[in-house]
Amino acid sequence: MDTKDLWRQILSEIELEISPANFATWFKNTDLREKQNDQMLISVPNIFVKEWLEDKYCKLILKTTRNHLPEIKMINYAIAIQSPAQPQIHKSEESHHAKEQLTFKESYVDPGTNLNPKYTFENFVVGAFNELAYAAGQAIIKNLGLLYNPFFVYGGVGLGKTHLIQAIGNTVKKQKTNIKIQYISAEKFFKELIEAIQHGETNLFKDKYRACNLLIVDDIQFISGKNAIQEEIFHTFNALYENNNQIIFSSDRPPAAIHNLEERVRSRFEGGLIVDINTPDFETKLAILKSKLREKNIEVKQEILEYLAKTIKDNIRELEGALNSILSRSYLFSKELTLEEVQKTLSKNIKPKKVITPKEVIQCVANFYDIPAKNLLEKTRRKEIVRARQIAMYILREDFNASLPFIGQKFGGKDHTTVLYACEKIKNEIKINERLREELKYLKEQLYNIV
Ligand code: ADP
Ligand code: MG
Repeated sequence: MDTKDLWRQILSEIELEISPANFATWFKNTDLREKQNDQMLISVPNIFVKEWLEDKYCKLILKTTRNHLPEIKMINYAIAIQSPAQPQIHKSEESHHAKEQLTFKESYVDPGTNLNPKYTFENFVVGAFNELAYAAGQAIIKNLGLLYNPFFVYGGVGLGKTHLIQAIGNTVKKQKTNIKIQYISAEKFFKELIEAIQHGETNLFKDKYRACNLLIVDDIQFISGKNAIQEEIFHTFNALYENNNQIIFSSDRPPAAIHNLEERVRSRFEGGLIVDINTPDFETKLAILKSKLREKNIEVKQEILEYLAKTIKDNIRELEGALNSILSRSYLFSKELTLEEVQKTLSKNIKPKKVITPKEVIQCVANFYDIPAKNLLEKTRRKEIVRARQIAMYILREDFNASLPFIGQKFGGKDHTTVLYACEKIKNEIKINERLREELKYLKEQLYNIV
């Protein structure tokens, strides 16, 4: 893998984390220019992108990069200027353009259906853990709208729900050209609905989704507690169902476990076929690794693959991530890694899950905001410290149900009203501040997955 491939790999992982529109806007025409010790230089097309990436996506980029290059501590951005006085640079820029088109073909999303063509059944490995879901998918393709409606597939993160339901969409699209298909995440559906309301275009929105022959809604658990979208999903569902149009939902949990869901919506979800995707066994994980390597046309020693399949317990995305991290390191060292080196590389990324203490929460928030943890416990009015402290208090309150006096005590004896104020402040801000929501998402990912 050269640096371009490495960056392409990083981009393809970032792409999974953010909306297609944001991805296309901010990551197009970016490239990895240089890596030196613990720093990396990314070239960007203009000042807007530079500022936006520094401001909004720096944590995500750093986090994703460190999956491959754990030593990287800092990422710098430079605006790429094509200078005619430097024909050599110009030339490499051109070849980099050619490669870039490849990158964006990979992350290409079909504008008509919103499906990503990279998710197919050709590259979908079937094992005991997902064979029911797979078989149901095949049956649905043959009997669209007539057999299992809705089809509700659920399972933990990174187990292939999105891959499966998009592969169904892509297969139908290939087989039947005159069929209207839409794939959308529940979150995006929600955003579009809000926008449509704001612009007085709810009819357009309704027409778009109620005219589908196949509607695929990903991560439907998102609608928990959101009445407006539940209502819209309910009516969309009815409109489609009455006309024998197929609906597919994915979720990280079964309908019965989605909280704050209107009963009538829950009963719709339960009215068709519900199938879960389990965790893959050792043999299947090995098969998945081999299939990924075939795609990349790279070979890796059996013992290393077995080590990966054994160590990474229950998540295909992580399995892929670990494989990629090994491939990028072996690229850097220009040699195949030994089992020992692989073990060392992975031990940096994957630590066993354990019970999290308040101290670790505080430490994690401090790391995230680059503030020494002890500052969070001191008396200070410095804005960034106050803010990080409020966020840490909020997490302890929301996620750990800690009492207000307990939290106050952990922060060097703060009054419980201060804690209450902090939690309310963050809670309210989350509703209106997308940036904060994203920060919390990545922060929690670090806290819960990596710790
Ligand atoms: P989920 O939606 O359940 O969180 P994804 O569908 O995004 O998971 O899958 C995570 C990653 O694992 C993707 O890159 C996907 O292509 C890959 N993957 C998942 N299941 C399989 C499978 N059965 N065979 C091959 N790759 C898979
Ligand atoms: Mg998914």
